[in-house]
Amino acid sequence: MADDTPVGPVSGTVVPRFAGPSTFARLPETRDVERCDVAILGVPFDGGTSYRPGARFGPQAIRQASRHLRTRYHPAYDREPFVEMQVADAGDVPCNPYSITQAIAQIQNSATELLGKVKGIVSLGGDHTVAVPLLRAVNHHHGPVALVHFDAHLDTWDTYFGAPYTHGTPFRRASEEGLFVDDVSMHVGIRGPLYSREDLKQDAELGFRVIHCDEFQTEGIDLVVRRIRDRVGDHPLYLSIDIDVLDPAYAPGTGTPEVAGMTSRELVNVLRGFAGMNIVAADIVEVAPAYDHAEITALAGATVAYELINLFACKEK
Ligand code: MN
Ligand code: MN
Repeated sequence: MADDTPVGPVSGTVVPRFAGPSTFARLPETRDVERCDVAILGVPFDGGTSYRPGARFGPQAIRQASRHLRTRYHPAYDREPFVEMQVADAGDVPCNPYSITQAIAQIQNSATELLGKVKGIVSLGGDHTVAVPLLRAVNHHHGPVALVHFDAHLDTWDTYFGAPYTHGTPFRRASEEGLFVDDVSMHVGIRGPLYSREDLKQDAELGFRVIHCDEFQTEGIDLVVRRIRDRVGDHPLYLSIDIDVLDPAYAPGTGTPEVAGMTSRELVNVLRGFAGMNIVAADIVEVAPAYDHAEITALAGATVAYELINLFACKEK
């Protein structure tokens, strides 16, 4: 009879946190556990970037920064996620760095197969292009989802230099494919200048509603959380978190930084407000460690990943 107790991370009181496995939070790998509730999936692809490349190194940078986390008990959720669920690291999708089309197929296939075996995925990107194949995989198992997208940018442009699949276009493609339910989806943290006066109008036509970054100050976190929860309701929820939603002070290591952004405190607190929502998958994208300083961005990414895992634990109860 197999023991059903989850295999947790290597304990930081037994093996120092700077040693031991290089998996996310020093968790076991999926191949080392009999079952898995939530899997971490690395998606090291950055062939869709428009400005600074380097998010292909995001998954490993986030894993490295995640060593620092104390993961046993999260007081904000009153959860012990790695005791209550089996969480494991599924490694990286082997993305073809020379072919966007093939990389997208590889990501879609890997995530679809993985979601057949686990209840949820937290993906570590990679640039935002990877959200399209991840949403396709989630749709395969759950149907269209509520998409709550944290980003400085809309990411609903049509093409860049004629290319349809880029990190600035994933949610236009997702809309065309009907991958999200349009009257329950939102962008959060949007700011900065646009290419055209039409951008916001066209985005609204896809069904999105926008919570502008400044509304965190004018309305406060509780009201922002309420607006998102009211719109999403009980729909299966996909959270897509572009780390550039944070101000460059909190996330300098990213491809297209945008000043006057959210603080990391605002981001984690809005996520904590989602406890009990019907989360089915999430991604954290655009961590590009070559532009990072003192692991600021990678630590933000690792911390957000751990918050998301706690959201899955809240859903279990
Ligand atoms: Mn983005
Ligand atoms: Mn962005």
